[in-house]
Amino acid sequence: MKPRPVIAGNWKMNMDPLEAREFFRAFHPEFSPGRHPTLLIFPPFVTLAAALNARPEDPRVELGVQNIFWEESGAFTGEVSAVLARAAGATHTLIGHSERRHVFGEQDEDVARKVGAALKAGLVPVVCVGETLEERRGGRLQEVILRQLDAVLPVLSNDADATFILAYEPVWAIGTGETATPDDASQAHGMLRRRLQERLGDVRAADTPILYGGSVKPDNAAELLRAPEVDGVLVGGASLDPASFLAIARAGMPLT
Ligand code: PEP
Repeated sequence: MKPRPVIAGNWKMNMDPLEAREFFRAFHPEFSPGRHPTLLIFPPFVTLAAALNARPEDPRVELGVQNIFWEESGAFTGEVSAVLARAAGATHTLIGHSERRHVFGEQDEDVARKVGAALKAGLVPVVCVGETLEERRGGRLQEVILRQLDAVLPVLSNDADATFILAYEPVWAIGTGETATPDDASQAHGMLRRRLQERLGDVRAADTPILYGGSVKPDNAAELLRAPEVDGVLVGGASLDPASFLAIARAGMPLT
C-alpha cells in the first residue's frame, strides 16, 4: 500500500491575508480516522500569519513558505531565512521551484545551500526538480532531473535523520494546462527513487514522498495519484480555490 499521500498547494504570489481567511472559511477537510492525507499549503510570507490563524486546528494541515535564503540573519534586505520562517510557524519550505530557477536564476548550488539551511532550522525541504520542454525533447529528462537531485544529495546524506520531500515538476506542465501523463510521471519518479536508493538506501528512499506537480486539477488528480511511484501532488493554480483543492485532496484519499 502507498504511504499516505501529500497534497500540497503553492499559492505563489497570490492571496493576501483577507483572502487567506476567506479561503479557510470555505476549506474544511474532515479526515477519516486512521489513514489520511497530509495537506500542506504554501502562502506568501506576508500571508503566513493570517493563514496560521485561520487554518483548521488540525496538525494534518501544515503551512510552509515558498522560498528561504540560506543565511540565518543579517544584512540581506528583502530575504527571509529558514530560522525566521520556522519561528513564524512554517514547518516546510519549497526549494528550487522552477519559477525560482528560471525567473530568478537560482542555481543547483543555491538550492543545495537552501536545503542545508532548512534542515538546520528544522524545516522540511520540498525540493523541486523538473526539465524544460526543450530538455525533454532533446532526450535530456533523466540527465537534468538527476543533476538537480544530485546537487542536494550530499546535504541530505550528511544528515541521516533529515526528512525531506521531492517534487517532480516538469517546467512545461507548470501553469500551462499541459499535464504529464501518469506514465510520464511514474517514469520520472522511478528515476528519482532509484537514485535515492543508490545514495541514501532503500529505507530512506521508500520513506521519501515524491510528489508530481504541473497543472494538477480535480479531474486529473485521481489518475495521477494512482500512478506507481506518485506519492502526492503539488498544486499551483487549483490550490487557490478551496473547493478544487478539497476535491484534489479527496482524490488522494477519501475524507469523510
Ligand atoms: C506549481 O506552482 O508548483 C504548479 C505545479 O503550478 P500549476 O498547478 O498551476 O501548474
